Amino acid sequence: MARYLDAKCKLCRREGDKLFLKGERCFSDRCAMEKRPYPPGQHGRSRRRKVSEYGTQLREKQKLRRIYGVLEKPFRNYFAEAARRKGVTGTNLLQLLECRLDNVVYRLGFAPSRDMARQLVNHRHFEVNDHVVDIPSFQVKPGDKVTLRARSRKNPLILDSMKNATARGRVGYVTIEDGKFDGQLTTVPERELIPINVQEQLIVELYSK
Ligand code: SF4
Repeated sequence: MARYLDAKCKLCRREGDKLFLKGERCFSDRCAMEKRPYPPGQHGRSRRRKVSEYGTQLREKQKLRRIYGVLEKPFRNYFAEAARRKGVTGTNLLQLLECRLDNVVYRLGFAPSRDMARQLVNHRHFEVNDHVVDIPSFQVKPGDKVTLRARSRKNPLILDSMKNATARGRVGYVTIEDGKFDGQLTTVPERELIPINVQEQLIVELYSK
């Protein structure tokens, strides 16, 4: 599958916000947004352009896509599904993205970033309800049990990530006991519980043109 392979910190600087794409580094003073909080490029610091309404909507969509590491076509599919469902389309969109298996693995603290979570899922490190699932976009339902497989429980990267996640705390809609290797998504989160700084209404407006 195609992936974005350029420097991730440039994406944050382009969007003018921390997107937390690089795991532990994002929480340290080595974060590029702490040191260079302006767009990348030769004129990044001096450039001040008036942004059109379309431009603002586009940036918001790109930001959300980049946070979850989803390419344009699948992102459009998520939007179509969100619009098809009952309720607020923008909230539905965020909920669909939050329920992706790679995101749940990240939220449970098994991986320091969504990118790494996607890789771990691809490499068959996880089971959902006792069956190996290697599809990062798999939709986890509330109550599904997500388990780190026995063969992966000594992986230092995963253990390190779990330790750091415990120290920092997790979102309220996942549960995992300290020292245990399985957790759950307890509920589809309400919008105000999802710690993502985007104005999803702008994305709805963009796609509704
Ligand atoms: Fe973004 Fe993380 Fe890089 Fe900071 S360290 S700029 S939050 S990817």
